[in-house]
Amino acid sequence: MKPPKFSYHRPGNYAEALDLLDQYGEDAKIMSGGQSLIPILNMRLSTPKHIIDLSRIDDLKGIRQEGNMIVIGGMTRHVEVENSDLIKKKCPLLFEAIRWVGHTQIRNRGTVGGSIAHADPSAELPCVLTALRGEIVIVSKEEEITVSPEEFFLSFLLTSLEPDQLIKEVRFPIIHESCGYAFEEVARRHGDFALVEAAAVIDVDETGRISEALIALGGANAVPFIPEEVERFLIGKKPDETILKEAAVMQLDDLDPEGDIHGSGEYRRHLSGILLEKALCRAADRAMEGVEI
Ligand SMILES: Cc1cc2nc3c(=O)[nH]c(=O)nc-3n(C[C@H](O)[C@H](O)[C@H](O)COP(=O)(O)OP(=O)(O)OC[C@H]3O[C@@H](n4cnc5c(N)ncnc54)[C@H](O)[C@@H]3O)c2cc1C
Repeated sequence: MKPPKFSYHRPGNYAEALDLLDQYGEDAKIMSGGQSLIPILNMRLSTPKHIIDLSRIDDLKGIRQEGNMIVIGGMTRHVEVENSDLIKKKCPLLFEAIRWVGHTQIRNRGTVGGSIAHADPSAELPCVLTALRGEIVIVSKEEEITVSPEEFFLSFLLTSLEPDQLIKEVRFPIIHESCGYAFEEVARRHGDFALVEAAAVIDVDETGRISEALIALGGANAVPFIPEEVERFLIGKKPDETILKEAAVMQLDDLDPEGDIHGSGEYRRHLSGILLEKALCRAADRAMEGVEI
């Protein structure tokens, strides 16, 4: 199927994009990489009268360090994250996760802002951003605000974005060099969206006890889920196999995964425990590498 007719706008800077959003409001849709939007238009799940293409807006592109944050412009493509030495060094969890996003062709076009705005619960970037307690910078003609992932992701494909707003940039906190990290997922085929995924960061003190634990699960709920009880339980413990195994299944009852043709809800819940255990073990191994006891 083809989409119904729409007017196409390609602003050259984001002030112009904001004017257009302000003018057309609910009748408009932003397009970044188009990797999710175009199929939605073709299936006529959304029928906007105006498409505002951000691809020419250079001030929405790029990766930089700002204090303790890695800041990624909304229009930055996945492939730039994948090839960035700064991301590899300062945001290794994101570096590990980005390769799981679709195929090379998708990563060549898809963008960080688009991935966050689309809010697929199985998408890798929302999961990593949630685990790291990142931030989303949103602009409209009136104001610029910064929100947390918990404020932003409301439900399946639903965010707090208003029709006149766009994602300017996404900010990922830099983890300390001593931290271990791991991203695990299972998908039916390489390049498919994950059935479930787990992101974990662990730091240990000089005695080998866990001093920090940051975790998120994707695909297991309508929005990325932080198992806060697990995080609290791990603090002060030595990260041996028994503790990590116990931690990984502690909050499975708080998950409410949807079932579909790829796997039942119960299977996804079970998989969440397995993947979280794997992520915790790998993150803990990496954290322990630098500790002499
Ligand atoms: C075959 C296939 C496999 C894929 N596999 C995966 C996968 O494994 N993991 C994964 O995470 N993704 C996957 N994707 C999706 C891909 O990552 C997309 O790039 C991403 O979801 C959307 O990014 P985009 O830049 O293409 O956004 P678009 O498709 O342009 O937009 C998506 C939505 O976000 C809105 N939007 C876009 N940019 C902004 C912005 N700056 N501010 C506000 N709203 C905005 C649009 O209006 C639209 O509603 C896959 C896609 C395909 C086609």
